[in-house]
Amino acid sequence: MAIKEVQTTCCYCGSGCQLLFTADTAANKILDVRPTWGRTNDDKACLKGWYGWDFLNDPQILTRRLRQPLIRRGGKGTPLAPASWDEAVAFVADNLKKIKDRWGPDSIMGAASARGPGNEPNYLMQKFMRACVGTNNIDHCARICHAASVAGSRQTIGEGAMSLSIPEIEDAEVIFNIGYNAAASHPIVARRIVKAKEKGAYLMCADPRVTETSRISALHLQLKGGTNLALTNSMAHVIIAEGLEDKRFIQEHTKDFEAFKAIVEEYPPERAAAITGLAPNDIRLAARRYAGSRHSVILWGMGVTQFSQGVEVVKSLCSLALLTGNFGRPSTGTGPVRGQNNVQGTCDMGVLPDVFPGYQSVADPEARAKFAKAWGVESLPAGPGLHLTRVPEKVVHEKDPAKRIHAYWIFGEDPAQSDPDLAELRETLAEIDFVVCQDIFMNKTSRQADAILPATAWGEHEGVYTSSDRGFQRIRKVVEPVGDVKDDWEIICLVSTAMGYPMKYAGAEEIWNEMIDLCPKFAGATYEKIERQGSVQWPCWDKGPQDRGTMYLHKDGHFATPDGFGLFRTAHYHPPVEVENADYPLTLCTVREVGHYSARTMTGNCRTLRNLEDEPGWVQISPEDCQTLGVDDGELVSVVSRRGRVITRCKKTERVKKGAVYMTYQWWVGACNELTISSLDPTSRTPEYKYCAAKVEKIDDQQWAWQEVARLYSQLRDDMGIQQIGKAVNQ
Ligand code: SF4
Repeated sequence: MAIKEVQTTCCYCGSGCQLLFTADTAANKILDVRPTWGRTNDDKACLKGWYGWDFLNDPQILTRRLRQPLIRRGGKGTPLAPASWDEAVAFVADNLKKIKDRWGPDSIMGAASARGPGNEPNYLMQKFMRACVGTNNIDHCARICHAASVAGSRQTIGEGAMSLSIPEIEDAEVIFNIGYNAAASHPIVARRIVKAKEKGAYLMCADPRVTETSRISALHLQLKGGTNLALTNSMAHVIIAEGLEDKRFIQEHTKDFEAFKAIVEEYPPERAAAITGLAPNDIRLAARRYAGSRHSVILWGMGVTQFSQGVEVVKSLCSLALLTGNFGRPSTGTGPVRGQNNVQGTCDMGVLPDVFPGYQSVADPEARAKFAKAWGVESLPAGPGLHLTRVPEKVVHEKDPAKRIHAYWIFGEDPAQSDPDLAELRETLAEIDFVVCQDIFMNKTSRQADAILPATAWGEHEGVYTSSDRGFQRIRKVVEPVGDVKDDWEIICLVSTAMGYPMKYAGAEEIWNEMIDLCPKFAGATYEKIERQGSVQWPCWDKGPQDRGTMYLHKDGHFATPDGFGLFRTAHYHPPVEVENADYPLTLCTVREVGHYSARTMTGNCRTLRNLEDEPGWVQISPEDCQTLGVDDGELVSVVSRRGRVITRCKKTERVKKGAVYMTYQWWVGACNELTISSLDPTSRTPEYKYCAAKVEKIDDQQWAWQEVARLYSQLRDDMGIQQIGKAVNQ
């Protein structure tokens, strides 16, 4: 037995925990994993860190690992068949070239991956789309989670990332968690929040549900869903009305205070109470507590961003911090805590329709000229590309073929599980002329692909992730990949070269070096420095050892806006797009579950995590609504919206208020996104996953319902090819 130890970064959330693997290299097997010291995690990990690597063993519980390229040689409607890499690359390149020649570069859409691949392939994917295809139609799943944080923060304070670091949270004096339950989404961040409480911090929480976070908070603002902006405007109102604002900070470091004040003046606590359902004095207390400390921190998650006013709420939260001077020192500031492991990094790499890597605008002629020269092309497109949430609009709702999306390369994501209104999404995929999926697993989207390109997984390749607090950290190969698979960056290079734009690299580090040379704020973050320090937080301007990176942003009140001033911004509240009525009397909100992740292809294929919970998931319903509906805990029910119907189990719980139901989003049979609405924030184009009208129906024939769940689950697994290869699924 030949044993090696490899340290790498967890692949599941933006906390960026460090894990130490022990592997038997002769048998190519992982023997053990344990957390080890890292900047963000000390030496701790959550259950996904401990048990979430089993998918590397391909236990084929939910779906199966891809081991060879698959193509539909005969076109749509013909079966997926194994192909050599040469044939698959030529097939993809020929089809993309034909579509580009006929319909133009903007007829092709690319979606890259905030999950396993790492920063380097994401850099190459946006380079491929911009330099080879000639379009800015490149995006990723930040669009459906924290794009509102990026847009809202950049418009107010100039940077879209967390202003503070995860370890600083434990020394905050006041922590305002809004739309964020760290215990479910980032357990290691939750640990810092608990430590802050132990050190005497005042915790307050705005969330419509009773959560682990609300339970440890001194103040729980259990507001009605979709009313965040009324609350934050009213908090600003109280702060100004009671003279609690930091007048000197406002004077010296901000602009547009008067316009902001004019809006929030219209939100006295009594008016906000009527909108939010909160007690006016609780709003006053929250405002006084927040303004009463120079070390107040705001942390938020998708309970802020996944609304049609998500960007406005982010701007309002940043403005609260400006109002009270809570920026530019340790343990203060704003924290949009990014969900997936590398969603911060994928934004950093310019996998967004409007910026190159390092947040350099595609509209800036100097930036375009710099990247064009480095990439060896005459010019690069200047107009912003398409947001991935608008792909259905550009397929099923676009009548002019010249303006449609005709090809979609989806790399490491599963929109047929994770996007809203899945019936519309399936129709979209069916109508697109050519769909490419590059992934590690068969998934719901790849069922509709014309070509499937199998990639190495986290644990099988080298690279860099960015943690939620801007920390570049290494990921490393633990085991050798099995089958005829390739690293993501290599696949992109092969297709690009076959399309006439040669890309060739020796490995991930060479790609990284090209990227940092083009991005001033990442320029000092060499592999060598990341290795030596363990983590380098951007901005890191200089390669020399004296620049160790940046722990917190906006030092001394100097913001990353063009003139260095923080800009006050907010807007008037309006209700969500689709509100409850007589036919759909409940509101549906989607939430996270700690043991499962994203589209579940990874955690659903880990035996220990699978054993925690399984299909068809749950819908959380209040005891009062259960009584009205005549349903009880554990009973199968139908949840119905204007867009679809799914079967799931009733979870009777006092954690939720009457009139609102909640579903976790990773289930394949109890798929909440069959029900969600595709209404978008007008700026970030993030869907309003957190609010649509729904109803719950009792199912009298429970035996039929369980058989139906089993049939649907079996059919999905058939589609993934589980039975075809004859492996046991219930290990
Ligand atoms: Fe992994 Fe996040 Fe858990 Fe840390 S907190 S072990 S990064 S899932």
